[in-house]
Amino acid sequence: MPDHHKLGRELDLFDTDPLIGAGLPYWLPDGAAVRHALEEYIREAERRAGYQHVYSPVLGKRELYEISGHWSHYSQDMFPPMDLGAEQVVLRPSLCPHHALIYRSRAHSYRELPLRIAELGGMYRSELSGVLGGLTRVRAIQLNDGHVFCTLDQVADEVRGALELIRRAHDALGVQPVRHRLSLPGSGGKYVADPEMWRRASALLAEVLDSAGVDYEAEEGEAAFYGPKIDVQVADSAGRESTLSTVQVDFHQPEQFDLHYVGADSAKHRPVMVHRAIIGSVERAVAHLIEVHGGAFPAWLSPTQMVVLPISDAESPQAEELARQGLDQGLRVRVVGPEQGSLGARIRDARLVPYQAVIGGREAAAGEVAVRLRDGRRLDPLPAREVLARVRALVDAHSTQLWDSDGQS
Ligand SMILES: [Zn+2]
Repeated sequence: MPDHHKLGRELDLFDTDPLIGAGLPYWLPDGAAVRHALEEYIREAERRAGYQHVYSPVLGKRELYEISGHWSHYSQDMFPPMDLGAEQVVLRPSLCPHHALIYRSRAHSYRELPLRIAELGGMYRSELSGVLGGLTRVRAIQLNDGHVFCTLDQVADEVRGALELIRRAHDALGVQPVRHRLSLPGSGGKYVADPEMWRRASALLAEVLDSAGVDYEAEEGEAAFYGPKIDVQVADSAGRESTLSTVQVDFHQPEQFDLHYVGADSAKHRPVMVHRAIIGSVERAVAHLIEVHGGAFPAWLSPTQMVVLPISDAESPQAEELARQGLDQGLRVRVVGPEQGSLGARIRDARLVPYQAVIGGREAAAGEVAVRLRDGRRLDPLPAREVLARVRALVDAHSTQLWDSDGQS
């Protein structure tokens, strides 16, 4: 497994500049294309799972984090507050408090629950400069966050649903977790004090894992400060584990923000908050994908999905036409003409591109394309329209297969 740091630069996916600062990478066009495809996948999966998307600002007043508990339990990871007149504002260390306030801004009946909201939003962590590098230790993070506000009876189903979303995403991404971890509190003042709350939340998570037949290891000292969580762990090129996806049960923040819903009995009740991240941060997810695939991403994630290679200048019009049709269908296609070198050299340069569409004199005359797949397979010439339709179908299905030889793609 290659190191994402080195490969990400070689592939022109991301970089950093000392003038922007350590731990603040920027995304180059090819990296941005991967990130965009990933974000679109997540939003679509969430929409299908009943989430509504929101946007919230990356700043909040200091008081917000005093109420949420971040100020007393998490301040070592937060940037110092900024003075703004008589107030202090903070770069947010998480999206949860904003989402709790969005929930609180409107009255809710039990009929609306479970209410699921999600956001791919920015958050900040004041990592020390000594540990910064690549996309895994960053100070500016784009988090795939989601919060489900629900009744106690609904928690188990919501946790199960979140684990299913995570499992499907890992399949589409070609990612294999190394283990599930039930992350419990440890000793010390890092965790909010409420033993009964911890016991109930931990029991709920363990119950879902047991009933789903998922193997897991319980580990103390890995919980969030407000509640226990299920962490889906992956390993990097050096075998170091990190959390890619997470599901958490939280009784604490609904209490802190005095959240409620009106029950069937017309009385006020406290909802439970289920936090979940399908891919955690976009940065960490892309870092892991770079390592897992060595830059040869599944077609739906590839920065360039198809490269069109006219053998000579005579086939350039057909090559341009194929690229135009591909772009019209939403595919990321580019033409690399003979001025860029011999066909062999151009194929080698495009070795990470899933589809290499070669057009020679015979193909041009017949309106066909000779497709080479990234894995070395060479297909018989096919009509240009059929090639694009089959690639589009595999991309739409978020398939990790390069080709469906039955034509049933
Ligand atoms: Zn949260």
